[in-house]
Formats: sequence, C-alpha cells, structure tokens
Amino acid sequence: MSLIVQKFGGTSVADPEKIRAAARKAIRAQREGNQVLMVVSAMGHHTDRLVELAEQVSPRPPARELDMLLSTGEQVSVALVAMAIDALGSKAVSLTGGQLGILTDNTFTKARIRSIDTARIQGLLDCGFIVIAAGFQGIDDDLNITTLGRGGSDTTAVALAAVLGADACEIYTDVDGVYTTDPRLLPEARRVGVISYDEMLELASLGAGVMHSRSIEFAKKFGVPIHVRSSFSDIEGTMIVAEPESRSVPVSGAALTRAEARVTILGVPDVPGTSLQIFSAISDRKIAVDMVVQNVGQQGLADVSFTVPGEELEAVLDAVRDPAERLGAAGVLHDDRVAKVSVVGLGMATQTNVAWRMFRALADAGVNIQMITTGEIKISALVSRDQADAALRAVHQAFGLDQTPPEAKTWVQIRAERAAAADLQTLVSRLRDDALEGLTLTGISVSGPQARVTLHGVPDHPGIAADVFEEIGRAGIFVDMIVQGYDGAEGSTSISFTTEESGLADGLAVAESIRDRFKMRSANAAGGIVKVTVSGIGLRSHTQVAEILFKTLADAEINIQMINTSELQVNTVISADRAEAAHQQIVKAFHRSLDRGD
Ligand code: ADP
Ligand code: ASP
Ligand code: MG
Repeated sequence: MSLIVQKFGGTSVADPEKIRAAARKAIRAQREGNQVLMVVSAMGHHTDRLVELAEQVSPRPPARELDMLLSTGEQVSVALVAMAIDALGSKAVSLTGGQLGILTDNTFTKARIRSIDTARIQGLLDCGFIVIAAGFQGIDDDLNITTLGRGGSDTTAVALAAVLGADACEIYTDVDGVYTTDPRLLPEARRVGVISYDEMLELASLGAGVMHSRSIEFAKKFGVPIHVRSSFSDIEGTMIVAEPESRSVPVSGAALTRAEARVTILGVPDVPGTSLQIFSAISDRKIAVDMVVQNVGQQGLADVSFTVPGEELEAVLDAVRDPAERLGAAGVLHDDRVAKVSVVGLGMATQTNVAWRMFRALADAGVNIQMITTGEIKISALVSRDQADAALRAVHQAFGLDQTPPEAKTWVQIRAERAAAADLQTLVSRLRDDALEGLTLTGISVSGPQARVTLHGVPDHPGIAADVFEEIGRAGIFVDMIVQGYDGAEGSTSISFTTEESGLADGLAVAESIRDRFKMRSANAAGGIVKVTVSGIGLRSHTQVAEILFKTLADAEINIQMINTSELQVNTVISADRAEAAHQQIVKAFHRSLDRGD
C-alpha cells in the first residue's frame, strides 16, 4: 500500500474550518487507498504569540524552556486535527515528537534530528489509523523536548517521508507552489512547475521562507520528491526534485534576507589561524555565517567582514569580543540596516557575465552594493535595507524571471526521462542510521592553478561593480569567485576576483586600466593560488564545516586568502605550493568528523 505524507503549515490549520478541511484532505487520500501520515504546524501565528509571551517574562528565556513552550503549539493543533478526523468518521492518532520517536541532539531551538524510530508510526498506519505528527519537535537523550528551528515542520515532514520511504510528500501551504521569488513581495513572480533540490536549498537558505532549508537537505539525501501546493485549492503546485526546470537560463530564482547584519573585524593579523579564532567562536553557538570577505592584507593586516542573521547580531558581537581582543584587532564594526539580495540558478555555473548582469541591474535601479560574494550557483549582494525591495525587483526583472524559460520541463516530462535513464542515483557519501541530519559530503577537490586580481580603493557608489565586471567581461576574462567588501578606508571597498592562472596578465592589465579610469588606490594580481572545494549538502547550516576547514588550515600554517560559502560548497583560496598538504589534511579532518558522527 502506498504511503503519503501531508504537511499542513500554520495558516492551513489556523481555525476550526481549516482544520476540518485539512482533515478531509487526509481522509480523501486514505479513501483513495493510501496510508496517510499528516505533519501539522501550530495554528496560525500561535508560535509567534508564544515567543512574545516568553519575552514578556524574561529578556533572555533559557533555550530549553523556550522549546518546552514552543512545542505546545503543535500539541494543540495535532490533537484538534485528530478530533476533526474522528468526527468525520475516520480513525486518527496524534503523536508528539517524543511519541513519534524523533530523537535529536540537544541544541535547543535549533536541534538536529539524529534518528527516527518508525515502528510505532508504521504499526498505527498498518492498523488503518491516520497518524498526525506534531511538526518541528523531538526529544534529546535526556527526554528534554527540543525544537528544530522556526519553520521546522517542513523538516519533520520530509524526514518522516524519507525514513518511512513514502511515495509522496505533499507540503500544503498558503501559496500554490514555489515562485521565482516571494510572491508577497513581487506580484510578478512566476510559479515554477519544477525546481531542483540544489536551487531550492540555496534559495531557502538565502531567505525564501516557503521551505525550511534543512527539509531540502533530507529530500536531496534520500531522493524524496516534494510537492508544494495550496491548502485552499486542488491545482498542481511545484515539484522539488533532483532536476531543474531548465538549464538554459542562468538564474531560476531570487531571494531576499531582509534582516541581515554585517560585522567587520578591523586590522587583524593576516596570518594562518585568524579566521579560525573568529569563526569558531561563532560556530560554537551554531550560528551560520554568510558572505565572508577578508580583504587582501595590507601591511600584514586584514579586515574580516561577514554577515549573520539580524536576530543573531547580539550573540555574534558577544562571541567575537574575546577573539578580537586576543588578535589585537583595531575594532569591531557592525551594521544592522542591511539586507541581502541573492540570485540562484544551476545554469550560472556554465554561463559568463551573470554577475555583471546582476550588478548592472542593481546599478540601474540606483542601488549601491556594499558587499558581494559568489558561489557555484548563487550570487549575493549586500544592500541598504531601505533599498531591499527595489533591489529584489531589479534583479528579478533583469533575469526575466517572470517569463517561463525556453526548454522548461514539466514534472511529467522529467519523470518520463527518469524512467528511461536506467541508473539515476543521488549523490550520498555516507549516511549513518544514528545521524540522519549529520554532515553529508560529496567531495573534496583542488582546482587547477588560479590567479587573484584585486582592486583597492573602489569608490562606494552605485554602478561601480557593474562597470568593473563589464570591462572584465569585455576582455574575455572568465571570472570564478568574486568578493567585494570593506576596505579599511572610509567610503571605499575592495573587489577581488579569481580567474585561471593563464589569465593573470590580461586580468592585471584590465584591472590597471580600471584603476586609472576610476582613480582607485591600487590594482594588483598574483598567481600561484588554488581553490580548495569541499562539496556536500547543507554545508552552511552545518556550522562546523567552516570551522573544521579553518582549523585544519591553521594547524598546517596555511593562510586563507579568500573564502566563500554556500549550502553546497565551501571554497577557500590558498597558495598553490600548499595545495597537496591542504588537500590531504582536509580529507583526514573530515573523515574524523564523519566518524564521530558530527
Ligand atoms: P507555512 O505556515 O505553510 O509553513 P510559510 O509562511 O512558512 O507557510 O511559507 C509560505 C510563505 O512563504 C508564502 O506565503 C510566501 O509569502 C513565502 N515565500 C517566500 N519565498 C517564496 C517563494 N520563492 N515561493 C513561494 N512562497 C514564498
Ligand atoms: N510552528 C513552528 C513555527 O512557527 C514550526 C513551523 O510552523 O514549521 O516556526
Ligand atoms: Mg513554513
């Protein structure tokens, strides 16, 4: 008998009528001959109200007690759904995270699932019950109640679908699918028929709140197809699967993280181990860092900038205080009036000028870019928060995201092609039964020889990045990583990019002409570097990945010249003569970590 997992978000169970509608959906699926497991979120904004209550009794509620409180929201809704199903004449049982056998680690408010004991659920399903699972929660080894982080019911649903080998995982929500960007922000956003795991993982991690990013890690690891669809209509929504809708376009979605914050540590020694001290203090608190830009050292000193979620700023400033002091940093700056706009697409890995198109779109909209980082399939720009919506609209329009791409495939076509391709396999390096949400790596590699080109004293005004990369593109230079960030001097930034080593002389010549044209402080280039890439699933949210990398390189006395992070890859640029040693040490370090089941 086939098994269907149906997840209902908060708005889909916000009142008794909606609860009855959800119950009817489950009963219908059961009558069609399926076993049905529902995963339900807290009603409406119940969780928000619980958070407010907590804040009213304590400025800093202990995380354990917060989880104890927040988990009650789901306990209310699952019981009501079970009652509604019972009243409609079917058999139902509601279960909390603990009763479901969802065991997590003890990181309260951000716990990760370790294992799920499926026996009880399967037994109930086999007896004809509709099982109603409380989303977003589990228990740790000491029977403490834990929660998986806001929006975590998606992760409960996909995890259960994965371990039970469900035939379908349907996410019922208040939109009728995944859009090219949040349709509440941009009405011209287009609903996509299909989106790939990799794209959805990046988009979710970069602010597309429609899916909890960790649910996509599960889906990718276990090959669970997800159907995102409306609770309020029967129209087909979006399938999240391994394949993209189209490979012919560079960008398939855009996302906004409105509440981002930037932190800059000024004047730290540009020697091995600096990054480690700063970032291990942050990753100890399980805070994911993004947009790391270390400007290339001058007089042996560097400025390290990075962004973090706005609500974590206070904790991050607290965490970096000691390491900044130990390193003799000249100061710590922060700005919480910034937002991050990102574009994501599998197609950009093979197309040139994508970054330039994004920068030009922002320039034309009068938006100044404060920081830039790129990844294999994403580009992020940090902008002032009051320009966030204009920035999102500009990039959405520039990449024609409101139009269906040429050669777009439907899920029906993809499924037919899958059936024809005999050996479709998901990339999974190691999965352990007791570490379901453990780190999954898919490769560690070293690039061919590369060169870095850097411009210092880049004026901090709209259009400059677009002009720079327009000229570089015109010279036929293929750019790999790009970073732009704070430059130590007031009102100026630095831009660095990497390219193949054979492009060094051309790169420098173009950089010098740009320097002269825009009266920048300096242009320089250096070869003899390589990019070391660690690939996997959910790397940014597994905060230990960057730490392991930094620690390994610091222990081997290897200086990190550039870095970028995404959910799929962490890249570090180091000197080529240390490449072999770095590669070996990194492989060893990650093997040790996987053996420990981190
Ligand atoms: P639920 O309570 O069902 O989990 P959420 O509020 O978590 O619902 O997620 C649905 C919301 O996600 C939508 O109402 C929409 O505003 C927002 N959203 C953000 N990005 C996207 C996107 N790319 N596509 C669709 N919806 C998005
Ligand atoms: N109720 C939780 C929240 O509001 C979990 C979820 O809805 O997914 O974050
Ligand atoms: Mg949600």
